[in-house]
Amino acid sequence: SADKLLTPVTIGKTTLANRMIMAPLTRSRASQPGDVPTEMNAIYYAQRAGAGLIISEATNITNQGKGYSLTPGIYTDAQEAGWKKVVEAVHARGGKISLQLWHVGRISNRLVQENGAAPVAPSAIQAINSTSFVILPDGTPSRAPCDAPRALETAELPGIVADYAAAAERAMRAGFDFVEIHSANGYLLQQFLATGSNKRTDQYGGNMQNRARLLLEVIDAVAAKVGADKVGVRLSPNFVAHDIVDDESEAMTMYLAEEFNRAGVAYLHIAEPDWAGGQPLSDTFRADLRKQYQGVIMTCGGYDAQTAEARLATGTADAIAFGRPFIANPDLVARYQQGAELNTPDQATFYGGNEVGYTDYPVL
Ligand code: NAD
Repeated sequence: SADKLLTPVTIGKTTLANRMIMAPLTRSRASQPGDVPTEMNAIYYAQRAGAGLIISEATNITNQGKGYSLTPGIYTDAQEAGWKKVVEAVHARGGKISLQLWHVGRISNRLVQENGAAPVAPSAIQAINSTSFVILPDGTPSRAPCDAPRALETAELPGIVADYAAAAERAMRAGFDFVEIHSANGYLLQQFLATGSNKRTDQYGGNMQNRARLLLEVIDAVAAKVGADKVGVRLSPNFVAHDIVDDESEAMTMYLAEEFNRAGVAYLHIAEPDWAGGQPLSDTFRADLRKQYQGVIMTCGGYDAQTAEARLATGTADAIAFGRPFIANPDLVARYQQGAELNTPDQATFYGGNEVGYTDYPVL
């Protein structure tokens, strides 16, 4: 049964109709050129407005923050206008939506960067075991290696912080209910947090406080623009993909949770490590995190109705995010409510393409 899942929960000043969150899902269907959200994207999100909260696909805050062709941005007027249509369509169906703010850092390739620039990172350490996704000069879409990054200068970091704040401001103008700062899954902010990718010797590297500094400055700058009660953060403790190596990630998460309380961050979204091969989160860690953090905790990673209820029952999470089930079942909430069968997601149409495997999954 799906009992607690279907009860309301309040994040900041916003009450969600249920605790089923649509996870952020890259679908690579922004219009070209310009990485602009489309009418088709609006239909897709509106179909899924039954979720208590939709978290948008990861959205590039700048061209520098882009690592995958066909992903949308939130740094031009056209992108903002495209997102406004998405938000209006979701709100018209009674839904709520958060925009996920994304900078990929070193998980990029010169082909998607302005003027073929090198990707940026905390340190000049290339991600060898990961890929970017590009449109080759002959027009062919292709995976591509992550190019060697250059280390960001200390003097550039206020600019990165300002880019997040500007993107968040655009998100609010587009009507989003929240913004989610993507500090997980091996991208720029997690590259700063992790010991293996951050070898800086300035005040943004070294001990835990220093490695957390950029994220905390981003949070403060975003909160100053939009209000902390509209800010969420995604973290992925024990994550190991994209060459992330971090022997302090659980301790860092506990430290950050305390800082999030200070900043008034409204929700903490945990991407569980299991799918990427990381050590599963322990019950002790989950319980400690619940004690430490005062806002709403949502967690994501291969849940179904039963395992989600069981997780909520432990009290270590307040809401559960579902990814693939929401791709294939726009009416996932109704299906869980009725104990109905689920459609199976088709992996071949996850990324890129048209309506097929995007807006054509049947509803009950
Ligand atoms: P993958 O290696 O198959 O693809 C990686 C990326 O390449 C995709 O996200 C997409 O941007 C791009 N891509 C691949 N094929 C494409 C195509 N035909 N057209 C356009 N773009 C294409 O990755 P995967 O195995 O599906 O994902 C691995 C994990 O990474 C997933 O389980 C997911 O949870 C995670 N993920 C995270 C993010 C994020 O944090 N922003 C984004 C995507 C995936």
